[in-house]
Amino acid sequence: MLVLGIETSCDETAAAVVRDCKELVSSVISSQTDVHKRFGGVVPELASREHLERIEPIVEEAMGRAQVGFDEIDGIAVTVGPGLIGSLLVGLCYAKGLAYALGRPIVGVNHLEGHIYSVVFDNPPVEHPALALIVSGGHTHMFYVPRPGQYKIVARTRDDAAGEAYDKVAKMLGLGYPGGPIIERLAREGDPRAVRFSLPKISDRRPDFSFSGLKTAVSKYVRETGLQPVKEGETPSQAIKDLAASFQDVVIRSLVSTTERVAAEHQPKTLIVAGGVACNMALREAMSAMAERLGIPVYFPSRHLSTDNAAMIAAAGSVKLAAGERAGLDLNADVSLRLQNIEVEDDELRR
Ligand code: ATP
Ligand code: MG
Ligand code: FE
Repeated sequence: MLVLGIETSCDETAAAVVRDCKELVSSVISSQTDVHKRFGGVVPELASREHLERIEPIVEEAMGRAQVGFDEIDGIAVTVGPGLIGSLLVGLCYAKGLAYALGRPIVGVNHLEGHIYSVVFDNPPVEHPALALIVSGGHTHMFYVPRPGQYKIVARTRDDAAGEAYDKVAKMLGLGYPGGPIIERLAREGDPRAVRFSLPKISDRRPDFSFSGLKTAVSKYVRETGLQPVKEGETPSQAIKDLAASFQDVVIRSLVSTTERVAAEHQPKTLIVAGGVACNMALREAMSAMAERLGIPVYFPSRHLSTDNAAMIAAAGSVKLAAGERAGLDLNADVSLRLQNIEVEDDELRR
């Protein structure tokens, strides 16, 4: 079964062809980083305009690289949320038009479920129950997955997502956008013990995350020490590198300790760590060491499938199509689409 995946939820225009749910045939990602960089974040109006211009050539490139004709495609999978409404609609309308023209079925995919499926290409099959941490620009959410397609939130951020914290701290330090890769690079040359930031504490002892306090602590540190943000073209100082390393160290320790706590409690057969921040090698190493302590295998997507892509959408959609799921042409986007779909005993988790 050949499935074409389309992803336009934020600022990557992406298309991919996947065979039999897990074989990556082609994946094309056009990132708009250059367009949004000078604003220090994604500008929604610009994002949808860029998607509109790029969607057709990107889909054609994915088909060309896969060396398959449109008539060989068995179905189309498209991201329907969460994301930016204007961006989502470009991919969705294009996918619906194509499905209609080809007379092929279409299914909508939750972007977060897509991130969870990003691990299927380069790892052994996921065994359930699984525990999946999505750590990205908009989310830091952990899902308990008792069976494929069933999701229950077991931990989430109370405020900023981890990737968002990276981006905001990078902006504060004049490092550019997106912040994750830049901070990771600088942190390698910095001392993580140079600045003592405390681990975020959740008062009611739920296994949740919080990163806005850390962001404020970094900003306070910059103000109090008079540290100057890096100017364009300037090489970052050792003090900036130390700060980057100290910030990253707390983010990683927080992600790992909370995941360890939940994993020890739920005893999953597989741990999944996906989303843009999962590109981070220091995070991967710390998560792997923790998983080894618990004796649970941990799967990461390959690095180019950690940030937004359409291969993960095609993989998640393939499973739905194979199970006979079909969406109508009234399929719509939902900017705040949730992934949790199984009963929760605890009211507090229903949020
Ligand atoms: P969501 O998936 O929640 O809707 P998104 O799609 O915008 O959000 P992704 O594309 O999955 O997010 O990830 C982008 C985020 O990943 C950015 O915040 C970026 O800073 C972060 N990121 C990318 N590479 C790294 C890295 N090496 N280290 C840390 N963070 C990183
Ligand atoms: Mg992006
Ligand atoms: Fe994403």
